[in-house]
Amino acid sequence: MALCLLLSCNLIACGTPLPVPGASPDPPVAAPADAYAARRQEMVATQIAARGIESQQVLEVMQRVPRHHFVPETYIDQAYGDHPLPIGHGQTISQPYIVAWMTELLALEPGERVLEIGTGSGYQAAVLAELDGVEVYTIEIIPELAEQATVQLRALGYDTVQVRTGDGYYGWSEHAPYDAIIVTAAPDHLPQPLVAQLSEGGRLVIPMGPPGGYQDLWRFTKENGELHAQSLGTVMFVPFIGEGIER
Ligand code: SAM
Repeated sequence: MALCLLLSCNLIACGTPLPVPGASPDPPVAAPADAYAARRQEMVATQIAARGIESQQVLEVMQRVPRHHFVPETYIDQAYGDHPLPIGHGQTISQPYIVAWMTELLALEPGERVLEIGTGSGYQAAVLAELDGVEVYTIEIIPELAEQATVQLRALGYDTVQVRTGDGYYGWSEHAPYDAIIVTAAPDHLPQPLVAQLSEGGRLVIPMGPPGGYQDLWRFTKENGELHAQSLGTVMFVPFIGEGIER
């Protein structure tokens, strides 16, 4: 049962993107601050807590971050649904449960620094930024998405999140080492620059597997300079792209 649940919810973690009417997400729709609070509450209860996410902080953060501001207006009614959504450029905003699960797996503490590879809509970065005293860096390879995410994050007051356009395969060495690294697209191997930029005691959460197929979600921890690997289940993410992975 547990495996079925894991499989069925993870398999739609990113999914094959649906057609998007316009390439770009529209600006946020003005709405009263709490207009979507009830939907978020239901999302947290039925999709996230019900599937075993235990961290009170993660549950609270998922309750706070206005996901509807990170999806194209066309999909605003589905913003709190149990599935990924297209964000343009063939990319997706991940399923809420996956965002919560990966956030919990990072086990971030106040004062720690996290690097995200695959900014996409900026939603996962906002979730990370809501964690107590956590410093967030995020890299997106598609310049238009990086720009839109930056605009959205700033509009919502996430001023400290640092967004960069580039190939995340190489990490962001200027701010290394990172206490945690999260990769939200799937490479077919572990990018060594990310391993090098992980601090002692650091956690790296990454889906890995063949492009276009299913992958395994992995959590690596660095202890005494050695990586320890834990495979956590089957997921489906969009492919990791760029020159670094193709070399
Ligand atoms: N975390 C995102 C969010 O909250 O919306 C969802 C990410 S989406 C599933 C994966 C993202 O990874 C896409 O935006 C894609 O362009 C990006 N990506 C793929 N390969 C990349 C690379 N080499 N470096 C940086 N970003 C990459």
